[in-house]
Amino acid sequence: MDPAAAPEAPASGPPLPVPLTSAAAAGYKAAAATAAAALAHQHQQQQQQRSMQRTGADAPVRAATCRAAVLHSVDDLRVEEDPRALPDEPLEGWVRIRMNAVGICGSDVHYLKRGRIGQFVVTAPMVIGHEGAGTVAAVGRGVTTLKLGDRVALEPGVPCCSHPAALKGRYNLAPISFFATPPHHGCLAEYVDHPAAWCFLLPEGVSLEEGAMCEPLSVGVHACRRAGVQPGMRVAVMGAGPIGLVTLLAAKAFGADQVVVTDLKPSNLELATQMGADATVQMSVLQPPAQVAAALTVAAGAPSGVDAVIDCAGFESTMQAALLACASGGRVVLVGMGQEEMRLPLAAAAQREVDILGSFRYANTYPLCLSLLASGRVKVEPLITHRFGFSAEGVAEGFKVAHLCEPGTVKVMFNL
Ligand SMILES: [Zn+2]
Repeated sequence: MDPAAAPEAPASGPPLPVPLTSAAAAGYKAAAATAAAALAHQHQQQQQQRSMQRTGADAPVRAATCRAAVLHSVDDLRVEEDPRALPDEPLEGWVRIRMNAVGICGSDVHYLKRGRIGQFVVTAPMVIGHEGAGTVAAVGRGVTTLKLGDRVALEPGVPCCSHPAALKGRYNLAPISFFATPPHHGCLAEYVDHPAAWCFLLPEGVSLEEGAMCEPLSVGVHACRRAGVQPGMRVAVMGAGPIGLVTLLAAKAFGADQVVVTDLKPSNLELATQMGADATVQMSVLQPPAQVAAALTVAAGAPSGVDAVIDCAGFESTMQAALLACASGGRVVLVGMGQEEMRLPLAAAAQREVDILGSFRYANTYPLCLSLLASGRVKVEPLITHRFGFSAEGVAEGFKVAHLCEPGTVKVMFNL
């Protein structure tokens, strides 16, 4: 699923420049340049001092050779020297991670095949990948929460924490620097520097691959939170691709009594059943939405409608069926970005007080994902259908499998 695919989504590029008068701008720039030069000098001195003090295992990792999967343009993905020149040691508050497991997401494949998603365009070589976990290889100054050798999952988005949305706890709606969303590099690389605050320690028994799976699982957890999924509820999930499946897992973990999953492909529905769906409904492209809705409510044993519908496909037809299948007073959550504009029976939905909500990426989900994985309440291993090593051939083959997405393909994982 492609978390950055929303053309209407809040910009996740760099924050917009604040307009300044030309005099103020000149003064500001001069002051900023002086401050930056002073900081750089101070940092250089501190680094020299520290590298003289440090020896052995504590010595900073110098990334002499550091390979990464770099997307140059459409269909041109190379495993080569990382274009990021990593500093001798991580910045203050940051850690250096030796990446161990990185999953491929639909958006990675989209960038490879199209070179863009909505307003995000690959204009310079970009390291791909945003679903990753690894081992702490160096610790920056001031980091007290992590140490060398710790295994962590990396939350890929680092938001602007002073943005009004972030201050309300909804940092997914703030300007954010997100792995492998231009102009930001991703994490399919041997080493990545990341703020310690966005690296989550893996509990014992949670594998590095499961750590990487926290990223897609987060999308499902956030969607279920938006849908208000609670014990006893009857929930429909539209679409049984990777995001539909993690949403199913999250809904069951949240205590949903019945989760009905619908998809076009029987192979996807088989997987959904294996992953714990209580019922499945195979729909076809030309089927009237009212028919799909009726089949969903029957399958859920909810003649007056299901309590929540989570649309992980995001097409006009799936949203129409979702609104019709939802019980009065229920919620429909739009996660998938299949279509930008659609005609929907809104008046009928409004008269029944069906709430329609958007869901974009996630916020504050990693700790919950890790506890769901540690307790065994969510099992993501079966979603990892293909594994490849980190070589030119491995990366080429992995992306080919992810792109072809033949029956039985869910998640392609690289082991680095
Ligand atoms: Zn993803």
